[in-house]
Amino acid sequence: MTTKWVYTLDELDQAEAAVGGDWDRVRGLLGGKGANLAEMNRLGVPVPPGFTITTEACNTYLAAGGELPAGLWDEVLGALRSMERRTGKRFGDPSNPLLVSCRSGAKFSMPGMMDTVLDIGLNDEVTEGMIALTGNPHFAFDSYRRLIQMFGTVVLGIRDEPFEDVLAHHRERRGVSSDADLTSNDFRSIVGDFKEIVRRNARIEFPTDAEDQLRMAVQAVFDSWNGKRARDYRTAAKIPHDLGTGVNVITMVYGNLGEGSATGVAMSRNATTGENVLEGDYLLNAQGEDVVAGTRPTKPLEELKVEMPEVYRQFEEIARRLERHYRDMQDMEFTVERGVLWILQTRTGKRTAQAAVRIAVELADEGLITREEALLRVQPEQIEFFLHPQFSLEAKAGHSVLARGLNVSPGAATGVIAFDADLAERWAHEGREVLLVRPETKPDDVHGMLAAKGILTSSGGRTSHAALVARQFGKPAVVGASAISIDLRARLMWVGDLEIREGEWISIDGTTGEVFQGQLETVVPDMEDQWLSELMSWADAVRRLGVRANADYPHDAARARKYGAEGIGLCRTEHMFFEPDRLPTVQHMITTRSLAERREAVDALLPFQRADFAGLFRAMDGLPVIIRLIDPPLHEFLPGFEELTRELADLQIRITSARTLQEVEEITTKLSETRAMLDKVSSLREANPMLGLRGVRLGILIPELTRMQVRAIFEAACEVTREGIKPIPEIMIPLTSHVNELRRQRAVLEAEAREVMAEQGVEVSYQFGTMMEVPRAALTAEQIAEHAEFLSFGTNDLTQTTFAMSRDDAESGFLMRYLADGILPANPFATLDEDGVAKIMRIAVTEARKTRPDIETGVCGEHGGDPASIEICDRLGLDYVSCSPYRVPIARLSAAQSALRARAQP
Ligand code: PEP
Ligand code: MG
Repeated sequence: MTTKWVYTLDELDQAEAAVGGDWDRVRGLLGGKGANLAEMNRLGVPVPPGFTITTEACNTYLAAGGELPAGLWDEVLGALRSMERRTGKRFGDPSNPLLVSCRSGAKFSMPGMMDTVLDIGLNDEVTEGMIALTGNPHFAFDSYRRLIQMFGTVVLGIRDEPFEDVLAHHRERRGVSSDADLTSNDFRSIVGDFKEIVRRNARIEFPTDAEDQLRMAVQAVFDSWNGKRARDYRTAAKIPHDLGTGVNVITMVYGNLGEGSATGVAMSRNATTGENVLEGDYLLNAQGEDVVAGTRPTKPLEELKVEMPEVYRQFEEIARRLERHYRDMQDMEFTVERGVLWILQTRTGKRTAQAAVRIAVELADEGLITREEALLRVQPEQIEFFLHPQFSLEAKAGHSVLARGLNVSPGAATGVIAFDADLAERWAHEGREVLLVRPETKPDDVHGMLAAKGILTSSGGRTSHAALVARQFGKPAVVGASAISIDLRARLMWVGDLEIREGEWISIDGTTGEVFQGQLETVVPDMEDQWLSELMSWADAVRRLGVRANADYPHDAARARKYGAEGIGLCRTEHMFFEPDRLPTVQHMITTRSLAERREAVDALLPFQRADFAGLFRAMDGLPVIIRLIDPPLHEFLPGFEELTRELADLQIRITSARTLQEVEEITTKLSETRAMLDKVSSLREANPMLGLRGVRLGILIPELTRMQVRAIFEAACEVTREGIKPIPEIMIPLTSHVNELRRQRAVLEAEAREVMAEQGVEVSYQFGTMMEVPRAALTAEQIAEHAEFLSFGTNDLTQTTFAMSRDDAESGFLMRYLADGILPANPFATLDEDGVAKIMRIAVTEARKTRPDIETGVCGEHGGDPASIEICDRLGLDYVSCSPYRVPIARLSAAQSALRARAQP
């Protein structure tokens, strides 16, 4: 069977049959835009006649080094003839010309990334024919010059500037600011100038034959698939590079045939907030790109109700119909040609995280989708928006608003101004916080937009490129801040008389559209959004996996609980030792050689720890609290070796120049203290402290320290029990590698626990367990489980010990190279290594359950907040994941999605 390369919009059934009926494959074949146009046509939505050249044709063309596949062109001509029959017009016929557009359309939407040519079919004669037909030379010559300009830039690769210079020159001469205000004579002369630009730059005559124009345009669209900006976009959006693009050739309809014509874009719901209202922008007497380019101020769709009530009513009805059909919010382009409405495109609308949540929940409430679908429609990372920084009210009160623009992508961002994308990217790589500031953005700017903290433009609307891209990638953005005038050449901007230079700080509020001078303080908001709460409650109803938080302080624990944590999965007790009022005692405990003094120091720490733990128990009343006993090597609490050596050398120099006896005495005392500290630090120094005296080994060598911690835990538990609180302490022993370590430590600690409860006359239910951070412990989990009621995978250390990669050094060193070279598919410290580390975890779970079938298992490394890792943990059958309080809601949704995906598998 020969391959069919071209499908008219009426041939959707055939396309479906060719790929076996599966819609995803239809989109793969025709591209999203082509498939949707054909489907709209089938739904009875008014779509201009046209056809789609398949992505398969694109891939075949590219594989052949730029040769159109055999038979393709005949099919194109056949489809053109069918369009001619439908429209009653003829391609290239001056007496009744058919004009077409030629646009790219890949399986996944890549806004503005690839190329479009409009008005194909115009030449000198056809333009005259159009004038005779419409009586509108202005429109005809304007269209003609647009064709030459787009053809020149897109197909022939000429830069935009020479064309823009010609237009600017004519505007200036006429004293007008918009191209629309030029006369037909201007456009006639511009056409001549444009042809000359083509001649000079491409060294060919602008092709006058309509079919030649179309063929070259089709090839240019195919070629644009491999253009740099398309590749960059795909890499950032994780779209595969081998899909190819479809080409849609569609009858031109005109929104610029006078005041009865219009063109616009609209979303079936508000893309920023998710509110269920039609939202959009349009322009009377204009072409599509005038709306998107932001060169003329657009009107809100609301006004169309007044200006064209019947068209508005029809559009509203179509928008609802499309939304019901696609069961999602739609982003539509429309044109009104002399009172007749045409829908040029519909696609799933990009939206902010806030809108994604509201739309998913409301679509489920309206019965268009199920709750399960709603849960799967929100990316876990989108939840982050609700925890996004916002400017504090005080910060805002202290700064006056410099300018206002459209609030197109929420969240607050602050950074130094970079006026171009390359600089924004470079500065961001250097670790600076950058805001990309441009008159407007283009697809070429995407790398800078991704690198920037936020985006500010002085022109453009809600559907401008800057707004779309910012929303998609969750970057705060303000666009169309027209009070700002930017001088790219001088690398500065003006707001009234105020001059602000590149590199200076500004701040933007993408939620309100405000722009401020300077660096404003940001705060993280509460997760109070009503739709988010609803979605979260649905997530909780479907997930199997528990979610706990890593929290060391009562206020963190309280926040975690508010975010939905079901307990604490890890309290790193050593963090409490770093508090300024405790550190000297901790240091004394470590450095003293006297056993009595050490005991004294340990006892002095007890009340602090007791108060810490009581606070945690109160915040987590009735929920489990895993408290990990001291873990890091002791030298971490002492001054650094190098620092002390420097200080010693410094003191030795100072003593030679001391002037008074008192000074000599002071320096001498300091010298001997520093020397003593240096001696102690030297004696504790290890070549590989991460593999040295840390974790359970500390408790074995200094049992009074961990005994004190356990005493503090149980005294606190007894104390809060008397207050009516229900503490559920789980005592966790870190870095076990041999069962004997655990056996010995637990015996000592449990004896202490019983002693405290006996003293206090209170019984607390508790568990002892250990961390799984060393492969040996995992492999011998059957033995370990005899002495552990729970296991918690410390996947930070487990990754480090499994890969034999220092977690402190790898991420700032060779690991980055490994990732860049593709030696590792992902950073194993961020996303669990499924083949290695997770395999060891599976062995541990299986072994441990042999001894203790109901042993509690969880993960408390950084992976506990990473969606991909959470899915792996779910499959491993762990009881919970534990992550930072801010990631708790993300983990709840991830766990729900994992459960739903598991259910969907046969
Ligand atoms: C771990 O190793 O995964 C862990 C949670 O412990 P820490 O990061 O404190 O070593
Ligand atoms: Mg660890």
